[in-house]
Amino acid sequence: MLMKFFVVTIDGPAGAGKSTVARHVAEALKICYLDTGAMYRSVGILAVSQKKDPVDVARTMDFKIIYSEDGEKRIMVNGRDMTALIRTPEADKEVSKVAAIKEVRRHLIKKQRSFAQGQSLVLEGRDTGSVVFPEASYKFYLDASVEERARRRYEQLAQKTTPPTLDEIQKDIIRRDNADKKRPWGALTIPENAVVIDTTNLSLEEVVAEILSHIEE
Ligand code: C5P
Repeated sequence: MLMKFFVVTIDGPAGAGKSTVARHVAEALKICYLDTGAMYRSVGILAVSQKKDPVDVARTMDFKIIYSEDGEKRIMVNGRDMTALIRTPEADKEVSKVAAIKEVRRHLIKKQRSFAQGQSLVLEGRDTGSVVFPEASYKFYLDASVEERARRRYEQLAQKTTPPTLDEIQKDIIRRDNADKKRPWGALTIPENAVVIDTTNLSLEEVVAEILSHIEE
């Protein structure tokens, strides 16, 4: 029996499949979905391109996710389409720096919590079950081997551009894993009471079914 409004958090390292899984879970439950990584990526890219203080960018940022009829999501920041810009290797590089700033996190967490006001929500990121919504009704942590995560990221990038080599991608994932796990605030961790799913050998459908089985029981 589902509650009136509820929150589902999905955390895990880069390339564990969180975004796609979160979108499918939200679709199945007919509720909204928030990609919190896109918020940190947007702050990183805007701060560099506009030479602004990342804390000011995070504080004033108007962040929206818009879905087109074919299910494609567009990330709109301050009225501008940032979808492609935030997925570049440059964004991968910049994001760890701004994600380590306590005040940036404070502003973004406030926005993330406000998304769940008056509606149910699936969020995915690094700290959504540990810090943003520690009392969430359903918490999940997705993991996968670093080789598999690099392969997935390679395929994702290859759909749009000439990707860096698999080796470069793997090194960047390891660098980001370390930065995400070691920072003093909002570090990547398995939230208390989270269901841990190793997705290395699972299909998208299998992961989504596993998550839904915990929610709909
Ligand atoms: O999930 P994604 O790879 O897009 O996240 C990009 C980066 O944003 C992560 O490597 C992490 O540094 C940061 N992030 C975070 N907290 C979140 C979501 C993402 O620090 N809740």
